[in-house]
Amino acid sequence: MKREKGLLIVLSGPSGVGKGTVCGALREQDTEIKYSVSATTRGPRSGEEDGVSYFFKSKEEFERMINEGEMLEYAKYVSNYYGTPRAYVEEMIEKGHDVILEIEVQGALQVKESFPEGVFIFLMPPSLKELRSRIEGRGTETGDLIDSRMTVAKDEIDLMDKYDYVVENDEVHLAVERIKSIVTAENCKKDRL
Ligand code: 5GP
Repeated sequence: MKREKGLLIVLSGPSGVGKGTVCGALREQDTEIKYSVSATTRGPRSGEEDGVSYFFKSKEEFERMINEGEMLEYAKYVSNYYGTPRAYVEEMIEKGHDVILEIEVQGALQVKESFPEGVFIFLMPPSLKELRSRIEGRGTETGDLIDSRMTVAKDEIDLMDKYDYVVENDEVHLAVERIKSIVTAENCKKDRL
């Protein structure tokens, strides 16, 4: 059975919950799903490669992309821009591939406006305490920046109701299995035939 269009899967949730880790693990297991590479104005962390982790952009270039309608969604998050370049996502979906976006909550809600047929998954930390310890453990932010991310995280968790699915990320392999089950179920929906 060949479907005309692919699914747009939006994986969102607070920073530090493990969206990147879960997406990476899913990617290793499921080569069918396409992954959108986001653009950002934040500087690269050690080990991050341009065009693989993110497209690293200047503020001016990012704003030009917004103004010319090249972003499917974007958000300002802890003083940097993050956004999804539209062209790749639309092309893949048109060709029948499922595409996953790993984005924060403001962006996910924008996608919901323009793409209500998308599948919206909220990745939930087991607790706020565990979330803080994951952000601290990652070692990429310190002091005030951890506090800013925790403040944003509490607001984001309040928006969980807007999603189709909530997946707890207690253990990465369990979260991956849950997401794979969701994608399978969505692809079996009779209105997708
Ligand atoms: P980080 O700086 O830790 O890589 O990302 C910060 C936050 O931005 C994370 O919650 C991450 O999921 C989110 N993010 C990454 N790419 C995008 C994007 O294209 N759009 C939006 N709205 N958020 C993104």
